[in-house]
Amino acid sequence: MISDERNDAFQILQNRLATISDVYAAAAVLAWDRQTHMPEGGVGGRAEQLATLSRLAHEMLASPETGDLLARAGEHEPGSDEAAILRLARREYDRASRLPARLVAETSRATALAERAWIQARESSEWSLFAPHLERVLALKREEASYVDAEHPYDAMLDRYDPGTSTNRLRGMFDALKAGIVPLVREVSARLGEDRTVPLRGDFGEAAQEAFGRDVISRFGYDWSRGRQDRAVHPFCIDFGGPGDVRITTRIDPARLSVGLFGTCHEAGHALYEQGVDPSYSRTPLASGVSMGVHESQSRLWENLVARSRPFWFHFHPLLRDIFPGIPDDLETLYRAVNDVRPSEIRTEADELTYDLHILLRFELELALFEDGLAVADLPEAWNSKMEEYLGIVPENDALGVLQDTHWAIGLFGYFPSYTVGNVLSVQLFEAAVQGRPGILPEMERGEFGTLLGWLRENVHRHGKKYEPDDLIERATGNSPDTAPYLRYLETKFGELYDVG
Ligand code: ZN
Repeated sequence: MISDERNDAFQILQNRLATISDVYAAAAVLAWDRQTHMPEGGVGGRAEQLATLSRLAHEMLASPETGDLLARAGEHEPGSDEAAILRLARREYDRASRLPARLVAETSRATALAERAWIQARESSEWSLFAPHLERVLALKREEASYVDAEHPYDAMLDRYDPGTSTNRLRGMFDALKAGIVPLVREVSARLGEDRTVPLRGDFGEAAQEAFGRDVISRFGYDWSRGRQDRAVHPFCIDFGGPGDVRITTRIDPARLSVGLFGTCHEAGHALYEQGVDPSYSRTPLASGVSMGVHESQSRLWENLVARSRPFWFHFHPLLRDIFPGIPDDLETLYRAVNDVRPSEIRTEADELTYDLHILLRFELELALFEDGLAVADLPEAWNSKMEEYLGIVPENDALGVLQDTHWAIGLFGYFPSYTVGNVLSVQLFEAAVQGRPGILPEMERGEFGTLLGWLRENVHRHGKKYEPDDLIERATGNSPDTAPYLRYLETKFGELYDVG
């Protein structure tokens, strides 16, 4: 039995959390607008509005009133939604209230300056323009880590994106992937031969590309009455505190078919997750996906396991040819084109096989920075030598190397590993789904995805943040996160494609 006093405190707490969620959602609408429709002149004003809203939300969350309500809300039945709400609210409150307001403000100022410097540095490929800013941001992030109770300072960074993971665990994961993928990439690289992507390059009308992409994700189950699609330079998916409005953005390159198509499938994968969260979790800490790693597992599942598979193209190949008659009439040529492997400098354009080596490199460098094993000044050299070791190429300049991503400028240390965690989980989840519902693959050949989406809804999406990521994966697949199925998948798929092994 829970006393009335506790019930009252829990109710007031819920209202407070709903208000905080509304403020974040309003900020998200402004952020969406900034990246899609806002005119250039809005930049300054919008930065102020976003800073104000995030300060208000932070103050409400970290306030003594919230702490008092959390203390009085007591305990709720283990396994209940209420217990999960309290667990998450306490974690968020702890995190927010430990950080001095000065540090929060300084970080936001330093990252704004660093981002601007990074843009200039990348344009001119001049590391020295960015280095002092990165020193500053890194120092602030390390100070932030010092306020968090963690075994390793880098754990404090990881915890924001993938609760429950740790530096040690990721070391094990990346060691296993390195041992499996580096030799496989070397073998495949030795057999690359002619560029298989030729059929995907040429002149593809933007409107026709967009229409095809919309058709594909409609078949996946993306609900247009609860979403929309716009163009953006750096595509993203965004929600506003519930499954009723989950938007995606896409970038379309008229010269390269894969950019728009696979980008659209990727963002739709994120959106299907958000659209599938239990609507009763809206405006609570349970709304939205449980971690960046699990989120990325959903986007990569639809992008790679589905849209780069033979069953998918069995259905969509003739439809694509109707729109673009230059597409080869042989399914196998198309399948090989969408799965071309080519070690390259840029992470966001990497193929499925080499992608994780780009993340491995970033993980190792971030860890070295946090462990004092590497100075910011030495980053470009360390970057290039790892590129050569893992991918066999040295970037032509820093813009194509250490300066390519925005993450470090905006303080997102510990974020990169989520991409690889997502890849690993995508295969575990897909295999569990296909094993549980063998009709999934034959359906895919007919352009039907209802059974697959149904399994994901049931086992992943609807739970939102209710379970911890590990717990969710264990419930869905019967196993803990594991690199073995992913490595087996890569070896089988690319072994066949390149006649290796
Ligand atoms: Zn993603």
